Amino acid sequence: MANHLHASCPCASEIVPIGKIPRLPAPIFLATNPAYLRYLQDGVAGHLSLPAYDQTPNGEVIVYPGEVFCRLPNCEHRRIPLAEIRNLRDHIRRHGVMVAWAPSGRVSQTTMNAVITWYEALFISQGSGDNGDDQQDE
Ligand SMILES: [Zn+2]
Repeated sequence: MANHLHASCPCASEIVPIGKIPRLPAPIFLATNPAYLRYLQDGVAGHLSLPAYDQTPNGEVIVYPGEVFCRLPNCEHRRIPLAEIRNLRDHIRRHGVMVAWAPSGRVSQTTMNAVITWYEALFISQGSGDNGDDQQDE
């Protein structure tokens, strides 16, 4: 039981594996999640295929906790992280798109699970093969 790599260990929050990214807005439950860390790393590296936003029936886009990249097409912030989720939300509004969900403070366990599943699905849905070495990239 001496596994200090476990996410519940307080010292884990002091380990910052990604030097490039300042002051993440990530909630604690995401800060040590492998899928989320890969989202950040691949995003900055430009290797991430961001899905289109899900929308509410009102046409508002749904932004998940911890998201730092804009998912709208042809936006430079698809790979340049915005520092805080509020900035991301303001940024998306500047595209003329409404943002549905403002996660504030505490997040329920159900929501946490859904968010983690979403981040994990970013990598599962790429499907065919796990090579990050596509030479036909532009
Ligand atoms: Zn944008």
